Order: sequence, then structure tokens, then C-alpha cells
Amino acid sequence: MLRAALRQPSSLWGPLVTGGVYFVAASIALIISRFEGGLAFLWGANAFLMAELLTTRTAHWPRAIIACAVASTAATALFGMGPIAAIPMAAINMLESLIVAILCRRFVPDHRVTESIRPLIVFILALSGVADIVTGLMAAAVASQLTPVSFGASWLQWYTGHVLGGLTCTPILIMLFQGEFDRWRRETSRHEKVEAALLLTLFAISTFHIFYGARYPMLFAPLLPLVLIAFRVGQIGAAASIIILALIGGVATMSGVGPLTMIPGTAGERVQFFQFYLALSFLLCMPVAAELHARRRLFRMLEQSETRFRTIAEHSGDVVLNISVDGVIEYASPSAHEQIGCAPELLVGQSAANLVDPQDRAVVIAAHHRALMQPGSIHKVEFRPLVTTGDLDWCEIVTRAVVDERGQPSGIVSMIRDISRHKARQRALQQVAASDSLTGADSRRAFLEKLDDEIARARMGARSSLLLIDIDHFKSVNDRYGHGAGDRVLSSFVERMRLGLRGIDSIGRLGGEEFAILLVDSDIDRSSMVCERLRALLADPTTIEPPIRVTFSAGLVELDGGSDRSMMLEAADKALYRAKHSGRNCLRLAA
Ligand code: GH3
Ligand code: MG
Ligand code: MG
Repeated sequence: MLRAALRQPSSLWGPLVTGGVYFVAASIALIISRFEGGLAFLWGANAFLMAELLTTRTAHWPRAIIACAVASTAATALFGMGPIAAIPMAAINMLESLIVAILCRRFVPDHRVTESIRPLIVFILALSGVADIVTGLMAAAVASQLTPVSFGASWLQWYTGHVLGGLTCTPILIMLFQGEFDRWRRETSRHEKVEAALLLTLFAISTFHIFYGARYPMLFAPLLPLVLIAFRVGQIGAAASIIILALIGGVATMSGVGPLTMIPGTAGERVQFFQFYLALSFLLCMPVAAELHARRRLFRMLEQSETRFRTIAEHSGDVVLNISVDGVIEYASPSAHEQIGCAPELLVGQSAANLVDPQDRAVVIAAHHRALMQPGSIHKVEFRPLVTTGDLDWCEIVTRAVVDERGQPSGIVSMIRDISRHKARQRALQQVAASDSLTGADSRRAFLEKLDDEIARARMGARSSLLLIDIDHFKSVNDRYGHGAGDRVLSSFVERMRLGLRGIDSIGRLGGEEFAILLVDSDIDRSSMVCERLRALLADPTTIEPPIRVTFSAGLVELDGGSDRSMMLEAADKALYRAKHSGRNCLRLAA
């Protein structure tokens, strides 16, 4: 709350507090750790600024940087290398924090630096591999000009102080700023809190003993409980342990007690060694804790998605199957019983192809392979089931690959849906579209498709014919007997024509009282005879009341593989036209 208020764009307190904290941290470091009169050996102030930058929007950066630059200038002028070094040192300090913040923003997309190992590595590399190498050179140049400390020694002091300070403090401060400590307090059970408090107390006692009581340099001893705490308590536990270690060990080392006093050398070297020890302890436990944290989060997400999947699978009308890469069913939802008449437990272990009629197996298997080749995309095919129960005769399978952590397909999730009713409706619609409702002859479209197929057969050598028929003076039938009677004449006309045709021949209504007959495997001579027979069939008046006698004129053409549908129709039509002009009720052959 307070932090949010301080970060309000209009708040003046925000930059003041940031600058104040930076000033205190920098001043303490300068007062207690300028062992050789040059740069400080300890430096946590930039760790604070980096944590601040990494947890705020970039719009907030300029104010934080200006505040810290002023604080750095004041601290150096008062307690460091003096007023001449103050502005250059402030610029170098700001540059270090900015380099780290920019690199982390660039390479950690979700800006959560402490969440898992990869962002932590980015932070460590940005700090120790880039920022402190570059700014160390600049700081050493200033220090070697203004103090007796050499360029090389100054660079090393800067590099170790800043890398180790940043490594140990920044992630902990980031967690603090992101409210991780509060969240932990809210989301952790009482039992876990007691366990954490107990472990940390034991850790503090043993650390205290190592730095104040032990006869031997047992610096390795806290490492084991540190890892244990990282496992049991997580990132918060690891951060708290590092703080305990830093406080107890730091105070002991600075005041000249503890195992580090055994190191021959200056106080500065001992402080450097302690920082190194602290950074190593940090590197040992924080990444483990971060990785555990990431895995716990992943596990929670997985649990949620698993629950969602189960709920959908167990209550869906569709059959949900988990199928292995090689096509074996690993899970079948309870609806399998109702939908495909097979208990789910009997399906498990069977090849999924066994559910499919052999005629459709190839397309279903091909869809399975396509799904494996293109993970992420959905593949849908229709198939006939091997066992048909009740009305079930068509199914649809929707298939998608499941990928493992390397992006490789590890199986398939399929949904099988009963589409029998849909298919039956589709078939009925196709039938309706394929036949003429008045006469039952083929519709124009269905007939023309058959004509195309027959022309293709003619190309292979078949000899078939097309007969085009138009009823003579039909208008006068309508005029005399009415439109209803005309309709009845048309339908009885088709019935009679069928009497003179074989099952393989087709009759289609091309429009009005114009029909076409496809005489399959029938050359022009035979077809002429068939036409004469059809005309004879019409000689009797129709069976309808009142009896109406009609005649037709016809044009005949033998199908030619070299021509297309429209050429054939045109040729037959011309012959029909000639028949009409020859007095009707006759047949003419195409030229
Ligand atoms: P012709 O072909 O011998 O030259 O003379 P026609 O009287 O048959 O002439 P035309 O082909 O121009 O006229 C066809 C008539 O068929 C016109 C139309 O009223 C009638 N007709 C078309 N479709 C139907 C139908 O579905 N039912 C009925 N009852 N009559 C139809
Ligand atoms: Mg006509
Ligand atoms: Mg006519």
C-alpha cells in the first residue's frame, strides 16, 4: 500500500524515499568499508536501485535515477573520495544499475527476475558479465587518479563489491518489493510457518555458533541446512537464510571475530572473502528455490487443467480418447458406453483403428499421422464405425496432438462424435437435389454429372448415346386440360419412358417438358431403335383422366470422347430442332 502510494507519478515522497535509502546504504558502505582509502569494498546501494528499477515501469526510472544520483553524489562528497569524484562516481553507479535493468527487461519477457532459473541467470550475467566489467574500468580510472590505490586493485574492489553486493541483495529486495514476503505470509498454513520459523531459528543458532563459538573454520556447515530450507520453505526461506548469514557473519567479520579472521591479509580482503562466501551460498540455494517455485506453479496449472479436462471428458456427450503415438487407446471417457456401445475399460489397450470400419481406416490413420506431424493443429475426418449400434452409422473424429516439454508429440487427444443424423439428413438432401420432384426423373444437375461420367467412359472406348426429347405442343395440353393435368402427363410420361429403358440407362428432366435420356453402352443404331420403341409406348393415350395422347420429337447423338458436355448437348439440340421442323413426332440424328 505504502509502496504503491510512493510510486504515484505525482508523489514527491517516492523519489525522496528512494534517494534517502540509497544515501544511507551508500554512506554506511563508504564509512565502514573503504579499507584502503579508495573505493568501498561493500556496495549494496546499487542492489537497491536495481531492485527498484526491475520492479517498476520504465516511466518511473528517470525519477528514481535522478534521486539516487543526487544521493550518490552527496555520499561520495561527504564520506567517499570527495567532491571532485562525486559526480563521475554517481554517473558510473547509475550506469551500472541501468545496464542491468535494461538487459533484464530485454531478455526476461515477463519481467519476473526471481521466478525461475533462466531469469536469474540473465540477471547474474548482466551484472557480472557486462555491467560491472565496464563500470569497474570507469570507477578504477577515477579512483586511481584521485587515490593512491592502483587501477588494478581498484577495479577488483569495485568488481567484487558490486557483483557480490548485487547478487546477494537484489533478488531478495525484488522479492520484498513484489510483495513476495506478504504473499507467503498470507498463503502459508500455520503448520508450514511454524516449520519455517523452526528451521530458520536452528539455522541462525548454528550460524551464530560457527561465527562466534566454533574452534574450527566450519564455513561449509550452513550449506546443508541452507539447501534444506530452500527445499522446504522455498524462495522466502532461502532469502531469509541469506539475510541471517549476512547479518551474523557480516557483523562478526567486520568486528574481527569468526573463522574469517584466520585469513592472513587485510580487513578488506576478509570482507571480500566473506562476500564471496555469501554470494556462493546464495548461488547454491536461490536457483534451487526458484526452480522449485517455477515447478510448483506449473504443477498447480497442470492440476487445474487436468481437472478441467476430466470435467469436460466425463460430462461430454462426445467420446474423449487419449491415444498413444502408435495408436493405442490409453483413456476412454465414460460416454463411450452410451455412444459407441463399448465399456471404456474394454477400449483401453486396444488399437484405435479397431473402432473404424476397414473402408475408412486409411483416412482416420492419415489424420492421426497429420496431427502428429503438425502439433497444435486440429484434424477432422468422418468415418463409419466398425460396430454399428442403434442408429449409429457415421462418426466424426476431431484429433489434436499433445506435446511434451521439448515440443515433441507424446500422444493424441481425440473426440468422437455421432454424426449419423447429420449424415442421414445430408443424404436425404442429396437425394432431393438429385431428382425432379414432379416426375422422379434425375434433376438437371444430377443428369449432367452422369453425362460427364459417360463422356469420360466414351474417352476410354465406350459407345453410349444421348437422346434429347421435347414433348410436342405441350402448351396446348395445358390450355385444354389445365396445368394440373399437364403435370400428371409429365409424370406419367417419365413412367412410360422407363418401361422402354434398362436399369443402367438414365432419364433426366432438363426443364419444362424437355427430357434427356442417357443410353449406356448403346451405339447410334441401337439407340435409334430404342427411341422408336419409346415413341410406340406413347401411342396409347395415358392412363390418366381424361386420357391425353402426346407425342415427342427427339434428337440423338452418340457420345464422342473428344467432345465435352456442352458440345454433345448442342449437337443433340440441333437434331431435335430439325425433328421439330420436320413435322414433330419423329427422331433426327445429329450430323
Ligand atoms: P413444341 O415444343 O412442340 O414446339 O410446342 P410446345 O407447346 O411444347 O412449346 P414450348 O416448348 O414452347 O412450351 C412448353 C410448355 O410446357 C410451356 C409451359 O407452359 C409448359 N410447361 C413447362 N413446364 C411445365 C410443368 O412443369 N407443368 C406443366 N403443366 N406445364 C409445363
Ligand atoms: Mg419445349
Ligand atoms: Mg414442346
